[in-house]
Amino acid sequence: MHELSIAHSIVEIAKQQLTSPTERVRSIRLRIGALSCVHRDSLYFSFDLITADTPLAGAKLLIDELPIVVFCPNCEALRELPGIQSFTCPACGTRTADLRQGRELDVESIEVVDEGHSVNTPTSHMVTAEARARTSP
Ligand SMILES: [Zn+2]
Repeated sequence: MHELSIAHSIVEIAKQQLTSPTERVRSIRLRIGALSCVHRDSLYFSFDLITADTPLAGAKLLIDELPIVVFCPNCEALRELPGIQSFTCPACGTRTADLRQGRELDVESIEVVDEGHSVNTPTSHMVTAEARARTSP
């Protein structure tokens, strides 16, 4: 049910971008960190389920997955981790829990199409939503 509540948050954010009844959401780009434990298929399924018969019906979810990045105190540098199993610097082996990226769950942009002018040549514009879909636990 985790993904269902996330889908609800995304829908609420996207609805706020609609300014007229003829506007539809065509796509929503998300940034999801590897540690946020979001099951993609469940998210797609939940989103389709709750957007049926809404201006968001048929909208595509585009997911940018962000790798885990930690700060290594020994290297004094940001290091990308290959997986979530071990929080050790891949360059020097120092253990670090100084997480700098990986828990993101953000709506990056929302593409809105206005079907009021013409069905064949809809105008579209991108909305960049600064809002977070859900804050980190
Ligand atoms: Zn290191």
